[in-house]
Amino acid sequence: MGDSTGQAGGTAKRLAEVRETIAAAARRAGRDPAAVTLVAVSKTHGPEAIRAAFAAGQLDFGENYTQELAAKRAALADLPGLRWHMIGHLQRNKVKLVVPGVHLLQTVDSPRLAEALDRRLAEHDGRLDVLVQVDVAGEEQKAGAAPDEVPALVDALRARPRLRLRGLMAIPPWTLDGEGSRPYFRALRELAGRLGLAPDERELSMGMSDSYAVAVEEGATLVRVGTAIFGPRA
Ligand SMILES: *Cc1c(COP(=O)(O)O)cnc(C)c1O
Repeated sequence: MGDSTGQAGGTAKRLAEVRETIAAAARRAGRDPAAVTLVAVSKTHGPEAIRAAFAAGQLDFGENYTQELAAKRAALADLPGLRWHMIGHLQRNKVKLVVPGVHLLQTVDSPRLAEALDRRLAEHDGRLDVLVQVDVAGEEQKAGAAPDEVPALVDALRARPRLRLRGLMAIPPWTLDGEGSRPYFRALRELAGRLGLAPDERELSMGMSDSYAVAVEEGATLVRVGTAIFGPRA
């Protein structure tokens, strides 16, 4: 077996394991496993790794950096139904690199970014699904809106119909294990509950390789998993 075939087989096997872990966590919580979307975080991994995952049935991919996302989108334009999620911080002067072409922008964290996105969307009468990124732990200098800023940001998004609010996203502080993230996942779910979100605004993007099972138990509808699928990043 050639090297690339072996790597592709490894990706397919790890994907199957991650999907099974998600399904088991959903069942433990009395949730429908189909209510959880796995976003395969492919940052730093090349187009071939993404092709291998796609061949194993994976459609949703997450990237952190605008240039890398734009380059991979171009390299993989032949794959039908592939959906890109922007999960990294987006600078206002980079919105052209993700709009159009991104399925879900998970990192809206300020009214000024919403305004820049809206201006870009107006140029081609586009629409964009977005999540509000919340700094659940209130860490200084971390990306994301502070919990007490979220209601105003939600209102700002609703005032711009080209931007469609779909829910909330969070990256908790690093902890030794997934269990340590549980209070932050719970905090995000409770914040969503207090916001009075419409049924189509209730996505919760939370959980990474070390914590996605816990996140599913706490109500995640999107989990962002990189290392557990593609292996360690260089
Ligand atoms: C890199 C990244 C992930 C995936 O992290 P892993 O630990 O490799 O699963 C998820 N979410 C965000 C925002 C990331 O930057």
